[in-house]
Amino acid sequence: MLEITNVGHTYPNGTRALDNVTLSIPKGMFGLLGPNGAGKSTLMRTIATLQAPTTGSIRFGEIDVLAEPERLRRTLGYLPQDFGVYPRVSAYQMLDHMAVLKGIAHGKQRREVVEHLLNETNLWAVRGKAIAGFSGGMRQRFGIAQALIGDPELIIVDEPTAGLDPEERNRFLNLLAGIGENVVVILSTHIVEDVADLCPRMAVLAGGRVQLEGAPRDLIASTKGRVWQRTIPHQQLAEMQAIHEVISHRFFAGEIVVHVLADSQPNGFAPVSGGLEDVYFVTLAETRRAAAAAAAQAA
Ligand code: ADP
Repeated sequence: MLEITNVGHTYPNGTRALDNVTLSIPKGMFGLLGPNGAGKSTLMRTIATLQAPTTGSIRFGEIDVLAEPERLRRTLGYLPQDFGVYPRVSAYQMLDHMAVLKGIAHGKQRREVVEHLLNETNLWAVRGKAIAGFSGGMRQRFGIAQALIGDPELIIVDEPTAGLDPEERNRFLNLLAGIGENVVVILSTHIVEDVADLCPRMAVLAGGRVQLEGAPRDLIASTKGRVWQRTIPHQQLAEMQAIHEVISHRFFAGEIVVHVLADSQPNGFAPVSGGLEDVYFVTLAETRRAAAAAAAQAA
């Protein structure tokens, strides 16, 4: 269990990236969903002990993460948002090198670990090729291979599917799903389907705060009776947005399907059994509304 308690972070330039974040993250896949700038990477880097928070505490089982960062690092697998330089060395050499850095000194044992991970991430066939020439999906799979060295009990993957094509994304998510239930895996993403497909628990982070937390199924149930749908010609979108709280719209066969948030059925709309995307957009709409109300009060 990972316990994040009242964690806040303000950057030296005054940006408040995290505001009193408290989360209990059990074993299994946990989705941390939020728009760009929400504070996800700041939180991931903080948990990964790459930066200290301004306030708060973090515990992972017995480990006081902020007081004993090196102890956490021994059991951490981290795939950062920006994996950085892609060297001209082969996947095999690089993974072997990283296994040395992780303390697997024994040659035979290291060979077993490296070969197992290359197989598991489906990179065996390209193990001799330079990582610099890998596709985005191959790089991310290599990123998972290096994160899994040493059987970590806490795995953090930060926006891993951004920029992957659908097939690569699928393959990558299947790989994550196979990691196992005895490990805490935090998947940070701005893509709703990543969480919907994989995570039994999730939280929405926006404006540095946890806006929502729970099981996707329960959260979807909570929007029941508040989300309504209507198909309109695209010229009417602006008008709809002026009258209703439009939480999402998408083009379908030349028209626009709008979803609106309302406590009772608006004229011309039909009830829709919402999905996680509606939950997410409702949460963001409510967050924006609260921020606007606070700003109006301050003015
Ligand atoms: P996300 O990963 O959800 O996109 P980030 O954690 O990267 O969010 O950023 C949260 C906020 O903190 C943003 O407003 C971002 O501009 C700001 N921020 C991130 N890193 C720094 C930094 N090193 N210095 C100043 N502000 C930062």
